[in-house]
Amino acid sequence: MAMLNGLMLEIPMHPHLADHEPHGLHMHYAPPSSRLAERFRATTLMNLAELIVEHGLGRTGVCAAEGCDHVYADTSRAGRRRFCSEGCANRTNVAAFRARRRE
Ligand SMILES: [Zn+2]
Repeated sequence: MAMLNGLMLEIPMHPHLADHEPHGLHMHYAPPSSRLAERFRATTLMNLAELIVEHGLGRTGVCAAEGCDHVYADTSRAGRRRFCSEGCANRTNVAAFRARRRE
């Protein structure tokens, strides 16, 4: 939380409404003159903050699959997500199943 608050002070913000395709009416957070990378940073930061407000801290993580370092946002009701994708979950479950069978 402290890190997000720090970044929100550090990154130039200029919240304003926008209405264009393909999203329709939505928020832009970076100043209109910003480069694309700065817009992505501002939007990602604000969406992460909204995720935490809506679902609480502890709803983001790093994929538990071996060899994968992707991050995920857990918006499920149960909040027990461990993997970035179905592919990583399946790969890990198949590996665990095979390891059990070898024993
Ligand atoms: Zn993964």
